[in-house]
Amino acid sequence: MAPHNPALSESNDIDYDVVVVGAGMGGIYATHTYTEDGLSVLGLEGAAGVGGVWYHNRYPGARVDVESFYYSYFFDKDLYKEWKWTERYPAQPEILAYLDHVAERFHVKEKFQFNTWMSGAQWDPAGNRYTVTTDKGDTYTCRYLVMTSGQLSKPRKPSFEGLDDFQGEWVQTSQWPDRHIELEGKRIAIIGTGSSGVQAIPILAEAASHLTVFHRTANYSIPANNSPLDQAKYDDFAGRLDEVWEEVVHHPGAAPIPMPSRAAADYTPEEQQARLEECWSYGGHSMNLVFTDQGTNKDVNDIVSEFVRNKIRTIVDDPDVAETLVPTEYPIGSRRLCVVTGFYKTFIRDNVTLVDVKSDPIIKITPTGIQTQNGHIEVDLIVFALGFNAFTGALDEANITNEEGKHPSDLWKRGPRTYLGLMTTGFPNLFIITGPGSPSVLANMIVCNVQHVDFVGDIISHMHEHHYNRVEPTLDAQDSWTEHVAEVASKLLRLNVENYMVHVNKDDNSRVFQPYAGGFPAYVQRCEEVIANDFEGFDFK
Ligand code: NAP
Repeated sequence: MAPHNPALSESNDIDYDVVVVGAGMGGIYATHTYTEDGLSVLGLEGAAGVGGVWYHNRYPGARVDVESFYYSYFFDKDLYKEWKWTERYPAQPEILAYLDHVAERFHVKEKFQFNTWMSGAQWDPAGNRYTVTTDKGDTYTCRYLVMTSGQLSKPRKPSFEGLDDFQGEWVQTSQWPDRHIELEGKRIAIIGTGSSGVQAIPILAEAASHLTVFHRTANYSIPANNSPLDQAKYDDFAGRLDEVWEEVVHHPGAAPIPMPSRAAADYTPEEQQARLEECWSYGGHSMNLVFTDQGTNKDVNDIVSEFVRNKIRTIVDDPDVAETLVPTEYPIGSRRLCVVTGFYKTFIRDNVTLVDVKSDPIIKITPTGIQTQNGHIEVDLIVFALGFNAFTGALDEANITNEEGKHPSDLWKRGPRTYLGLMTTGFPNLFIITGPGSPSVLANMIVCNVQHVDFVGDIISHMHEHHYNRVEPTLDAQDSWTEHVAEVASKLLRLNVENYMVHVNKDDNSRVFQPYAGGFPAYVQRCEEVIANDFEGFDFK
């Protein structure tokens, strides 16, 4: 943990040392850590409570796809020991309760202004500070702006013609209202079958009189094999938390599920099948980790993809429906795997219909339902599960401007450019927690958040020790890190697949992979080297 820092705000005519934006996993930990470090901290959060994505994504079926042993804070041994998860993959209400508990326990809530969106932040070069404005009309100055606003937090809004005239109700999974939404006996449509949609579909189907699923691209959805928490394992972890933390930070995904040790060619065909079955039984992201070369060798990837396709064919009895659900458009793992409970079985139900919008496109929303090319489907409730404006959505909405009045995205037209995913040149003292160019959505987000928040704490301590007022990355350091991120991703099959992790430049079809794909340990090692080398790559003034 960073050493104690005297609050600058006491002597520098600044309202706060740090403004933290967003009260999710990162914001809670940042507020706690920087307060402990002696800094004055203001948190801003648009929602009525803490939780971030776990506050907003309260759709039925929402649950995490990282095991709870690892989807926990490790910074306080008593916290880890005393909290009781009930499941291997906890559901949204339990995760929200956990985050609320942490925020309460470490007095984080009192630092936050809730129901308050940041509406802008402008860098003042003369005062080395940001002037932060809110939708409440308040203005605050701060030395450091820490964006814990998430990479998958701003929903892609539905833009279907006719939606305004729809007389039923519509909701988004990513902003599911904090009130009762009646599902029982309703005719429900859901559009989108990414991680959110596939989790909601089985629950919606149980309640609905009829559920129509509109899908566009079939995804690889792997059973979670969820179960009650293995309490003995959890207690064992709690008793040797430092050791477990070391395992976590040395795992490429920062969540130690078993890694493959051999390439597919090292197995006989029979052994390959046994290995595939083993990973299928483990469940979830394990199907990404069957063979060491499945992410780079298309022939090997085909073996894994075909195994999953055949599993789908055995679960879904109607061959036409099964073939529509079988993913063929991209290699397995080149988009994030969906992790599900009962998803494919849902299509055996009499009250569920699948519409493939590629062969039967949605024309418009009507006052009573959805008009597709082939017919009209009457519905009472439409659920949109359309995903997010990933990586830049929250930053854009936060409206942060530098000395020249530019936003980060103005300088990222051909893809994000950052140093270590944490800072971007031209925006002094702006820290983007789990930003593009860091492992981010490719690893366990709670661990990524903690690592970044601690790193920022170290940078701030260094500044205070040397009486610096501002920090930003040098252009050289940013360029070489951005090149390294691209180089690491260049061998991956996933670079050439349409998905939210890839920024595509439409003029020349060049593709930029946004998170850092070199694995969490390599990233942490690089950060540690940067610190050891006197914060190389950062320009302090
Ligand atoms: P997503 O993966 O981006 O999926 C969006 C879905 O909406 C896709 O099926 C997409 O189809 C469809 N879609 C978008 N626009 C459409 C249109 N105009 N017409 C028809 N379909 C349309 O978003 P998500 O499901 O919210 O998941 C995003 C990420 O959030 C995940 O990858 C994961 O990182 C995280 N997440 C995690 C969990 C978990 O831990 N279990 C749960 C939920 C979310 P196409 O595929 O054809 O574009």
